[in-house]
Amino acid sequence: MVYPFCFLYVHDVSKRIAIIGAGFGGISAAALLARQGHQVTVFEKNEHEGGRASMWYERGFSFDMGPSWYLMPDVFEKFFAKFGKRPSEYYTLSRLDPSYRMFFGDGAPLDISSSLEENKKLFDALEPNGGAKLQTYLDQAEYQYDSAMETFVERDYQSVMDFLDWRLAKEGIRMRMFNSLDSHVSRLFSNDRAKKILEYTTVFLGGNPKNTPALYALIAHVDFNLGVWYPQGGLHAVATGMMRLAQEQGATFVFNAPVEQILVSDGKASGVRVNGVDEPFDLVVSNADYQFTESALLAPEHRSYSDAYWESRTMAPSGFVLFLGLDKRMDSLKHHNLFLQNDWFAHFEEIFDRPAWPDAPSYYVCAPSLTDPSVAPEGKEALFVLVPVASGLEDTDAIRTQFRDKIIADMERVTGESISDHIEVERIFSQRDFTERYGAFQGTALGLAHTLRQTAILRPSMRSKKVQHLFFTGQYVHPGIGVPMVVIASTILSDSIEKQYG
Ligand SMILES: Cc1cc2nc3c(=O)[nH]c(=O)nc-3n(C[C@H](O)[C@H](O)[C@H](O)COP(=O)(O)OP(=O)(O)OC[C@H]3O[C@@H](n4cnc5c(N)ncnc54)[C@H](O)[C@@H]3O)c2cc1C
Repeated sequence: MVYPFCFLYVHDVSKRIAIIGAGFGGISAAALLARQGHQVTVFEKNEHEGGRASMWYERGFSFDMGPSWYLMPDVFEKFFAKFGKRPSEYYTLSRLDPSYRMFFGDGAPLDISSSLEENKKLFDALEPNGGAKLQTYLDQAEYQYDSAMETFVERDYQSVMDFLDWRLAKEGIRMRMFNSLDSHVSRLFSNDRAKKILEYTTVFLGGNPKNTPALYALIAHVDFNLGVWYPQGGLHAVATGMMRLAQEQGATFVFNAPVEQILVSDGKASGVRVNGVDEPFDLVVSNADYQFTESALLAPEHRSYSDAYWESRTMAPSGFVLFLGLDKRMDSLKHHNLFLQNDWFAHFEEIFDRPAWPDAPSYYVCAPSLTDPSVAPEGKEALFVLVPVASGLEDTDAIRTQFRDKIIADMERVTGESISDHIEVERIFSQRDFTERYGAFQGTALGLAHTLRQTAILRPSMRSKKVQHLFFTGQYVHPGIGVPMVVIASTILSDSIEKQYG
């Protein structure tokens, strides 16, 4: 009996993928791409995962070095659900109450509660009909959030045509995409404090309320309705949890492994050079800062964006960060604290219009030991102080010391508590550290600002325009800055890779 030969042709769609960087962008991309069956290796130049969300440990104190606000819990739920998991299987969350405390140049601080009713009472005390106005504002913010997530955010922009979609344009106008956040807030509110409460988040978006699109008013929904959460162990614990998820999917992480070059043959990415060794890969995804990837890891002919392009961008602020381990607790503080100056626009001007170390800066202080005793020895306080400052400033030791003294003196004046006599552990992290540790262009903490001219299709592309099989994720690409946004970027990218490569 003759058996016909049966050729079973199996097309192997599994690719070897190198990911450069284990920030949230690299880790989330690794998990998603490994789940698709690809062989994923993540190369991280630093000693551990998290990127901007690194951790610094010193004499019993632990400091989250970057993000400390866990916002948009729905995005994380959705991400873990793709794997049939929940965030609670990887880290423990608690909702903060109050969400945060605000100090205004003078007078008693205000607490923003986790209860909407309490917040409406607060707004009633700030201006006539304030509570009802807040409700109106939040209803609109909720609409903006739901609509923006569906129409603008969770969307792949591959060509200008994707942006010139009629529905997008109509929604853009409805959602006041083309007005500034400041004019949007001022339509309802006249009280200076009420306005600041609704605008302070632009600092996290790397913008000035006067030129940030009013669409970002949706953040009020995130802040007031979805709530401010804390993962035990800090935001770094979220990076660690996501890395565990990626490892369970089969991804491999290699630390102290700086990628020195992206290898290109016949116009295609073909591997990476790490610690002097060329490693072959089918696809390369860079999570490292975009400008760094192009200028340091690619030859000039393989770069999609010129030096002139980067010089002409509006960079998001850098940060002057102070880690302070105190030998006492700070009773005047809550977990999140915002210190806002009366004239905060002067500070914004010093970030964007005439770059300078700010004279009277607004800043943020995190005191997580209130919620998480593991971050400081008993009876002590681990403080993280963040002052947004312009990118590209001169950053000498003398300037740092002077600026540090100014900030500590201001904190002591506003809180009425002594700080300088209680410092056990101290470290400054600023412009040159962002460049050294993360390869940040002009020492930016956050990448590209969220101006209208740097939104959606107008952000750098997720796909190299010059090198096939080379992709980008992270805070530089659409949708932009912030941990949830970066996770969404990797989701958009991995969906696109799945469509392209099976
Ligand atoms: C001080 C600060 C406070 C913030 N606060 C918040 C907040 O409260 N909430 C929030 O949601 N967001 C916050 N953000 C923003 C948020 O942290 C970032 O948007 C996000 O973490 C960026 O992630 P990423 O993956 O794009 O980049 P990164 O985290 O920078 O990751 C890039 C990785 O690439 C690595 N890398 C670079 N070059 C190489 C190389 N040659 N080889 C290998 N690896 C390389 C870097 O070491 C890094 O690990 C904050 C950021 C900062 C700096």
